[in-house]
Amino acid sequence: MRKTFLVFGKPHSGKEEIEEVVDTIKSGWWGTGPKTELFEKNFRTYTKNKYSLGVNSATAGLHLALKVLGVGPGDEVITTPLTFCSTVNVILHCGAKPVFADIDPITWNINPKEIERKITKKTKVIIPVHLHGRPCNMDQIQAIAKKNKLFVVEDAAHAIEARYGKKKVGSISDITVFSFYVTKNLATGEGGMITTNNKNWISRMRTMSLHGLSHDAYKRYSVKHFETYECLVPGFKYNMTDIQASLGLHQLARIRANAKLRKKYWQMYDKAFAALPEITRPSPEERGTQHARHLYAIMLSLDKLKITRNQFVDRLLKENIGCGVHFMPVHLHKYYRDTFGFKKGDFPKAEFVGERILSLPLGANLTTRDVEDVITAIKKIVKAYKK
Ligand SMILES: *Cc1c(COP(=O)(O)O)cnc(C)c1O
Repeated sequence: MRKTFLVFGKPHSGKEEIEEVVDTIKSGWWGTGPKTELFEKNFRTYTKNKYSLGVNSATAGLHLALKVLGVGPGDEVITTPLTFCSTVNVILHCGAKPVFADIDPITWNINPKEIERKITKKTKVIIPVHLHGRPCNMDQIQAIAKKNKLFVVEDAAHAIEARYGKKKVGSISDITVFSFYVTKNLATGEGGMITTNNKNWISRMRTMSLHGLSHDAYKRYSVKHFETYECLVPGFKYNMTDIQASLGLHQLARIRANAKLRKKYWQMYDKAFAALPEITRPSPEERGTQHARHLYAIMLSLDKLKITRNQFVDRLLKENIGCGVHFMPVHLHKYYRDTFGFKKGDFPKAEFVGERILSLPLGANLTTRDVEDVITAIKKIVKAYKK
């Protein structure tokens, strides 16, 4: 058994991040400033789109996106139940109604056919989530949106390196939102980025991200002449800081190298689990797409095992292997059950996957030996508890 605990989702960094953060601290500019501006620029160069806005989380970014699109009471927003709760919470923050569309059982992403079934006169936005880094079927989702005059806001929290056809995720839909939370492929502790090609939206989101003030703080303090500023709209406190951007600049620079390592570990898992009928591996990448490989999730065949998924996770912890569940379907969370009357059976495909998946450690921080330890532990548990 492994001697030390393998932490799930530990970020990977080097001396560049440390030196940049120290430089920022010494510069005295700790808030939103030149480094945030540079990080925004580098990020939109990477995703190949016109505008970008650094924020303090993807949740903040999703909230701003829905706000700028005018989502409010009486509107409906369609998304997947198999996501993190914040994708859905932001719909409620706008006073709108979340509407779930069940997933595709193979890709685990939102099923475009289910989206079509859920559209009403009140539908305003579709939020596809690229689960684990696998891009959703954006051709079909865009076609549905166009036909029904809906906006598309992509939750790309898992999908920084993802590509769909010739386009990078971030340059496809009306607005896309990325997360830089600690466990994500690019980490700034807390943080996120909004990308869009719409100048009006980005400028309004920028204003709303800093209290709704007429000038952002960076411009306020860097101009040589005095200017008063005023509150144009009651905004939020969602801005990214230069300390976060200091991490982001170098995390972005290492993203390609890190992706190579994650691909290597992904293939090690795929190879090792191919012979285990108790385990379903992530389905292969669709032709013409690039999976961001944020999370390697296996699905347990519970009919072939004597234990549940949660017990399986528990056994892994006892083997000193950290892992995660992404995700328990949102409609089954207490608030959503109590408020909307959702129950088991409402979205059977999301529930089936949600009861059986678990995510294994995957990241540039790992060594080949770490990955071998995970594989050994999985094989041991399967052997001990198979029917
Ligand atoms: C992490 C995550 C979020 C939220 O990101 P934050 O930056 O922590 O706000 C949203 N959606 C999904 C699918 C996520 O995994």
